[in-house]
Amino acid sequence: MSETVATPQVTELFGCMVFDDATMKAKLPKETYRLLQRTTKNGKHLDLAVANVVANAMKDWAIEKGATHFTHWFQPMTGITAEKHDSFISPLEDGRVIMEFSGKELVQGEPDASSFPSGGLRATFEARGYTAWDPTSYAFIKENTLCIPTAFCSYSGDALDKKTPLLRSMETIGKQAMRVLKCFGNDDVTSVRTTVGAEQEYFLVDRALFDRRRDLIYTGRTLFGAKPPKGQELDDHYFGSIKPRVAAFMRELDEELWKLGILAKTEHNEAAPAQHELAPIFSTTNLATDHNQLTMEIMQKVAKKHDMVCLLHEKPFEGVNGSGKHNNWSLSTNTGINLLEPGETPAENAQFLLFLTAVIRAVDEYQDLLRISVASAGNDHRLGAHEAPPAVVSMYLGDELMSILEAVEKDAAYDSKEKELLRVGVHILPKFPKDTTDRNRTSPFAFTGNKFEFRMLGSSASISDANVVLNTAVAQVLREFADILEGAENFEETLHELIRKTIRDHKRIIFNGNGYDEAWIREATEERGLLNLKTTPDALPYLLCEKNIKLFVENRVFSEAEIHARYEIMTENYCKVMNIEVLTMADMVRRQIIPAVSRYVRELAEAARAKRDVMDLVDLSMETDLIGRLSALNARAYTKVKTLDKLTDDLRHMVSLDEQAIAYRDSIIPAMEDLRYIVDEMETLTAEDVWPVPGYGELLFGVR
Ligand code: ADP
Ligand code: MG
Repeated sequence: MSETVATPQVTELFGCMVFDDATMKAKLPKETYRLLQRTTKNGKHLDLAVANVVANAMKDWAIEKGATHFTHWFQPMTGITAEKHDSFISPLEDGRVIMEFSGKELVQGEPDASSFPSGGLRATFEARGYTAWDPTSYAFIKENTLCIPTAFCSYSGDALDKKTPLLRSMETIGKQAMRVLKCFGNDDVTSVRTTVGAEQEYFLVDRALFDRRRDLIYTGRTLFGAKPPKGQELDDHYFGSIKPRVAAFMRELDEELWKLGILAKTEHNEAAPAQHELAPIFSTTNLATDHNQLTMEIMQKVAKKHDMVCLLHEKPFEGVNGSGKHNNWSLSTNTGINLLEPGETPAENAQFLLFLTAVIRAVDEYQDLLRISVASAGNDHRLGAHEAPPAVVSMYLGDELMSILEAVEKDAAYDSKEKELLRVGVHILPKFPKDTTDRNRTSPFAFTGNKFEFRMLGSSASISDANVVLNTAVAQVLREFADILEGAENFEETLHELIRKTIRDHKRIIFNGNGYDEAWIREATEERGLLNLKTTPDALPYLLCEKNIKLFVENRVFSEAEIHARYEIMTENYCKVMNIEVLTMADMVRRQIIPAVSRYVRELAEAARAKRDVMDLVDLSMETDLIGRLSALNARAYTKVKTLDKLTDDLRHMVSLDEQAIAYRDSIIPAMEDLRYIVDEMETLTAEDVWPVPGYGELLFGVR
């Protein structure tokens, strides 16, 4: 009953704040709509006269919805979104104002963006850069502001954001996939797009508790915290019933997302206490990227309204699961065919196998880039921590699909009952069940029936980087495949050989076992020669390898200068994050932890004195023991902080960022871990009311 009432409301709500296709059709003159469609679908240039008409209709629609401002919404290399609000008002001579919005303002903007990282791409004298409308992503209204999704570039055309390379990578993979499809005779297909569904994990903590922890406020994660008596060992949170306060949050979040046309579909509890997940229905990659950015932003806003804070950090708490983002990825034609869906006919099957092997080869050849695409100081704590994929990139295909590939590779029968050899393009693939039983959560890159799920992404990251790499790497392989197939004399024979060779050369990347197993890491690195890039400073230098630069340059996704800029920004970002963490840690220890423990020691001493002087008691063993242990630990903490100060000071003399990043990895992080260990031990010995910050138990179980 309640469902039948709710349905029309939701359908009305959905997308009500989006200037989507239906709205455009309704609000734009027919001819304008047609011309705009030409731009969005085929990338044709938009005439200024047309832009003026679109802008005006957009403004009228936005004002009707209560908007007063507009902004070019963009995604600088900081990884979050940026906006600068301008109001629609324009003065009249008689002192009154009218609301105006021109085509020029719609199409191009000039944010004063000199403070955004450019990695040296933009000299300060031409610091402004400009934003350009991405008409393939709909404009929307957020908090009385009409937001226009844009790309952000320098005046010389260098990409200064995460959207420009993403659009370029979608273009290159679309083009190469089309070439391959033509070889298979798919003449009805006119475009191929990549699709993405980004599952988002997050934690919710009580806002009052959050406000008392400077580490959470400054770094997004706890730098200390003794293990609580209960963690996630009972698995009683995973898919458990949702607490009323969280349920209210999720309800409002869904509504806010729906208004923005975001297909929020599933909300559930995750493995760790206080951890949750939101999964949307997949969409075109650039839209999915915009939507994921908005999802993260709105999650944080809605949480505040419910007196909670949404933590998007990859590892807010040690000893419990971190948060990731699962990037479900596939390729789809404008005729609605999912190219990673096994087909019904020999030809469809062959085509599926070719695209599948293209991804296998791409992941193998560019495993370093995939690792880099998820590299950040935060994610370093999560990857390989036995609850997230290891830092070694490998692929899971499942046993069924694996034996099919092996049969093709070895020119063997697929199973003993089949007498015939498995010939690509001649035979229908044996039916294999979609991977339903063992979802193998341990694999970094899993085939899940009709898409790949890349699971290494950190929860706070933009999904853009990972998809740029994925799209470009697969595009490169498809390009080489198309070169071979287009020139083939015997298509079927060439295709079969191409698939066989690809499987043979790249099957080392396929691993169907337990990715968390130590033995696997050994096998991967020692026997298979796969990379194990444990930390960000280990991974980043690979970005500048010749093969990787060649990949991006040839596919016109990044220029060489743009790659160097990104390398610099990622390294700098790593160092900045580490710097904030180490300063926060030292500050908290010096000004909160050490004084609190000292106070508690004094309290114990006073209690002992009173026992002895007033009550004439002689057994002071408990007090002396605690005083002794805590004083010793506190002294060690003090020494460690001084070590940290010294190490941080040393960094100032290092000129290069690479050198600094390595110093963080090799000396500062281990020193921080030592200090944490000491502090956590003191926490278990100190009275709760004296301890200056809320503990793990409260934080993880505080939302009731
Ligand atoms: P689960 O992994 O929980 O079983 P699904 O497999 O249905 O759920 O989907 C997980 C995510 O993958 C969802 O966000 C879904 O929209 C997305 N997804 C499904 N099909 C595709 C596709 N063809 N391309 C990209 N993402 C997809
Ligand atoms: Mg999943």
